[in-house]
Amino acid sequence: MKDLDFLTSTPSRQIDYEKFDTRLLDSVLENETSFLTCMSCGGCTATCSAGNLTNFNVRKIGLMLRRGEIDQLSVEIEKCMFCGKCTLVCPRDINIRNVVLLIKKGIALLKTENILS
Ligand code: SF4
Ligand code: SF4
Repeated sequence: MKDLDFLTSTPSRQIDYEKFDTRLLDSVLENETSFLTCMSCGGCTATCSAGNLTNFNVRKIGLMLRRGEIDQLSVEIEKCMFCGKCTLVCPRDINIRNVVLLIKKGIALLKTENILS
């Protein structure tokens, strides 16, 4: 069974749709609809200034947003320097810098509503 260890992750990353708060994802998609076309190619991550200096991964930010992993997202998002290089290289012409900005604003709003600590 040891050979199948890759099938389980600890802690579990299974999405709990009963608890999944979609407000942040909805507000980002409402204001930056181009994000719907992201194909997770990683081009943004490859050029990211913050990613060159830290373990920041902007493609992963999109995945966390879609998975509703807001606590983790609120920590990671602070590493973005808003340089905009990710937006310049995106093959789908997604304003990923704006996506990051919208996530940051959305998280600040959730914090003011005491939904997030
Ligand atoms: S470069 Fe564009 S399409 Fe590729 S992962 Fe980044 S946002 Fe998505
Ligand atoms: S705007 Fe943020 S996510 Fe985009 S390349 Fe610059 S540091 Fe990376």
